[in-house]
Formats: sequence, structure tokens, C-alpha cells
Amino acid sequence: MKLPNWPRKRLNMKIDILTIFPDFFRGPLDYGIIRRAREAGLATIEVHDLRAFARDRHRTVDDRPFGGGEGMVLKPEPIFECIETLNIAAREERVAGRAKQSVALLSAQGKRFDQGIASEIAALDRIVLICGRYEGVDERVSEYLADRELSIGDYVLSGGELGAAVIVDAITRLIPGAVGNEASTRQESFTAQAGLQNGNSNGPSSTCASGGLLDYPHYTRPADFRGMPVPQVLVSGNHEEIRRWRHRTALEKTLRNRPDLLERAVLSDEDKELLAQITGQG
Ligand code: SAH
Repeated sequence: MKLPNWPRKRLNMKIDILTIFPDFFRGPLDYGIIRRAREAGLATIEVHDLRAFARDRHRTVDDRPFGGGEGMVLKPEPIFECIETLNIAAREERVAGRAKQSVALLSAQGKRFDQGIASEIAALDRIVLICGRYEGVDERVSEYLADRELSIGDYVLSGGELGAAVIVDAITRLIPGAVGNEASTRQESFTAQAGLQNGNSNGPSSTCASGGLLDYPHYTRPADFRGMPVPQVLVSGNHEEIRRWRHRTALEKTLRNRPDLLERAVLSDEDKELLAQITGQG
């Protein structure tokens, strides 16, 4: 008897955020998919106030940089001590991949966070996000405590909190069950699909299925809004034409906004044919 292919069951993903501004997260974690995932017990998010781990009566979490220079640096002690209360696997276990846990330091010098890293993290049981402030965090946190440094993009923010919120959002929606229609998270911008790597895909049901490209344009009612009609093909009912139109517009958009993605993508014969048409060589 063939058993139904149930979505992979997971009990709960634990997300811990370390910050000197815990109130910052009132709001970003209380809406939409993240809220529902928390309510459904798919994700447990805890925000830890680093000041609670400061020893002196002024609750000092920062200090001047050794060697001189501008600004202040987040001290290592409150961060180490906070993590020590969380019962996290030892760094060697995490680095060796023996623990399905990761401790990430938010940093402009980190590896750039993308959809690939989001899926990798979403497959873990636990992720800890450390938010820096000021000039940054004492480097020993990165060297001896965290097992990765993540940047959300090539710009400098004033703190890691927005970055942590971005990462929590991107990973929570990948937890099986968090998004009503699971197929929709597999068919978005950037999502590489295995089928395409061997070049025999029969095209995306949305861009994204075409191996790490951008999503196709979406439209909803009214069909004519202030004289701006939706593309005729979408109301034609011709599924094959709709599929081809979506595939083509996804490629067009990727070529226009993110040509770098096209250079890295594995293109099917249909992709190549459509691209040649778009660039006027077909
Ligand atoms: N002096 C540092 C910037 C410090 S900004 C530098 O030049 O690299 C203060 C904090 O904001 C950092 O410790 C980090 O936690 C966060 N941050 C800044 N830019 C970030 C980015 N692109 N991605 C993730 N976190 C960032």
C-alpha cells in the first residue's frame, strides 16, 4: 500500500534573539505568517535582553575599543553569559554539523543572507541571532561563540535588529506548515528547483521554478483598472499560453532587474529560446 506523502513533520523551531533593544521586536513578530506560525506552535521565538546579563549597576553592555578609535563596542560577557543560559550545543558540535543548531552574529562583514541560507537555517531545530550595535561586537563572539556571521546586504545598518527580523521572517515562512499553500514557497523568486538542474523542466509554474530567477508578475481583479488592463493572456483560460507567458515575463524581469541571476542560472532549452526572443535574437 502506498502511503500518502505527508509534509515532513516538525515539532517546533526555536528562535532566540539577543539584543539590547528587546522592545524593537514588538511588532515585526506579531503579524501574518510569523504570528500564525507562533500560534500554531511551529516556531517559538524568544527575545533576550542583553542588559539583563550586564553585571554592574549601570547595566553596561558596551565599552571603548582597544587600540583606540571611534565609538563603542558591545562587550563579550553579556553575550556569552546569555547564550550559556540557553542550553545551546557546543560550538564544535554546531560547526561539525552534529547539532541541528546555529548561532549567528548579525554583521555587515558576514556572509550575505539569501534564500539558500534561509532554507538551510529553516531545516535546523534552533537558531540564535545576536544583534550588534554601535561599532560592532567584540570579535571573540564571532571567533569562539557564533558559528556564522550573516549580513542581510551590502550596506551598514545601525543595529542587527532589522537584520534579525528579516532573517526570522524569511526562515519562518519556510517551516513546513507555516504558509497555507506550501507549493507557493517553492515557486518564488530565487528558489532553485532540482528539476531544472538537469535541463528537462517543462517550464516554471512561476518563474522561480526556473532555477533561481525572479517571480513572474501577478495580477488580480479588476481586469480593467482605470484603463489599465491585465494582460489578455491571463484571462484567456489557455493554461499552456499562461505558463509560457509567465515564464517569459519572469525571464524578462530577471534580465531587466537582476541579470546577475541569469548568469548563474541553469537554463533550459525553453529558457534559452525565450531569452533569444526577448533580446531580439530569436
Ligand atoms: N563597524 C561595522 C558596522 C557596525 S553597525 C562595520 O563597518 O562593518 C552595528 C551593528 O549593526 C553590527 O554589529 C551588526 O550587528 C548590525 N549590522 C550592520 N549592518 C548590517 C548588515 N548589513 N547586515 C546585518 N547586520 C548589520
